[in-house]
Amino acid sequence: MSDSDWKDVLVFIEVSDDKVQEVGFELLGEARKLATKLGQNVSAIIIGYDVEKFAKDCISNGADTVYIVDDPGYKDYLTKTYSKAFVQVVEKFKPDIVLIGATPLGRDLSGAVATVLKAGLTADCTGLDIDDKTLKLLSTRPTFGGNIMATIYCQKGKPQMSTVRPKVMKMPDPDLSRSGKVIKEHVSVDPKDLTVKILQFISDDCRDQIEIEHAKVLIAGGRGCASPAGMEKLKELAKTIGGEICGSRPMVENGLIPSNRQVGQTGKTVVPRVYFAVGISGAIQHLVGMQNSNVIIAINTDPNAPIFKVATVSIVGSWQNAIPKIIEEIKKRTGR
Ligand SMILES: Cc1cc2nc3c(=O)[nH]c(=O)nc-3n(C[C@H](O)[C@H](O)[C@H](O)COP(=O)(O)OP(=O)(O)OC[C@H]3O[C@@H](n4cnc5c(N)ncnc54)[C@H](O)[C@@H]3O)c2cc1C
Repeated sequence: MSDSDWKDVLVFIEVSDDKVQEVGFELLGEARKLATKLGQNVSAIIIGYDVEKFAKDCISNGADTVYIVDDPGYKDYLTKTYSKAFVQVVEKFKPDIVLIGATPLGRDLSGAVATVLKAGLTADCTGLDIDDKTLKLLSTRPTFGGNIMATIYCQKGKPQMSTVRPKVMKMPDPDLSRSGKVIKEHVSVDPKDLTVKILQFISDDCRDQIEIEHAKVLIAGGRGCASPAGMEKLKELAKTIGGEICGSRPMVENGLIPSNRQVGQTGKTVVPRVYFAVGISGAIQHLVGMQNSNVIIAINTDPNAPIFKVATVSIVGSWQNAIPKIIEEIKKRTGR
């Protein structure tokens, strides 16, 4: 079989807690652009139990065809069962490109699927495109500690696979008038593959807080305010404005915030409406996680700090000076 027999851009739609993870829709939007360049179609795959109801959302967000693998055996995610179902669908329908969200589940699944298919997989991409001449997928991602961007392609072999973190690609505008095909694929679960049994889910200790990738306002602290007094002020600002706390890597290293609140290359990518960067220098590894925020308000004592290059509002000064004034002003204007 030649490479030209592989067609379409397939997106994995992750469902957890009976909800579609938004990264799936973000990738459908990106898949649409790639498929248009290739003159191909967009397809989606959903694996789970009672998941057919999500097919119409996939179609309105850009899928032409949705493959459904629905069985009680897929109620809980297991690498072995999900990867088997995924591989079977790929081998049958032969997509040219496979895109998967770089969530914890997506990272696990993509590696397992690529290994079985002997496919090239580029992880944590920040940009996807099609080479005009070869029509191959070009996957761009930071490398060498985030100091350079590398564009990677698979010389041979199909499918070409990439993972992309949540919030890196833009959410498409859903078109409720779109129509598409829904294809149910039966892949039975082999009891021998159920080597792990999920006894109970215990939610993490952040359940009562909004996860930072969903927050509209983020107050991010860096080494410049990595002290108990600094944390207190960040929390006071967060409470006054209704934001969530996050930070740069030194804040995690100093035990001031948990690792799931780190922003950047080895942390999370966020696109809030407002991002306060307090005492953060703006290293590239931090910028890649927050530079697409709508409004960036940077507070730093160093007027040459790189963070000011991406800031919408630049405050040259110490947080000790600036934050109390911001809090006072917000209270005055909102009457809180
Ligand atoms: C492979 C790799 C992956 C990495 N991944 C990440 C990542 O995911 N996220 C991340 O954040 N980093 C990451 N890093 C680390 C990154 O390179 C930087 O070291 C880090 O982002 C610096 O954090 P910072 O800006 O808080 O600290 P610094 O660079 O030390 O900056 C502190 C800033 O605070 C300012 N300041 C000092 N006092 C005050 C004050 N009183 N008021 C206001 N401003 C003040 C200073 O002028 C300075 O600009 C990674 C590094 C590597 C090599």
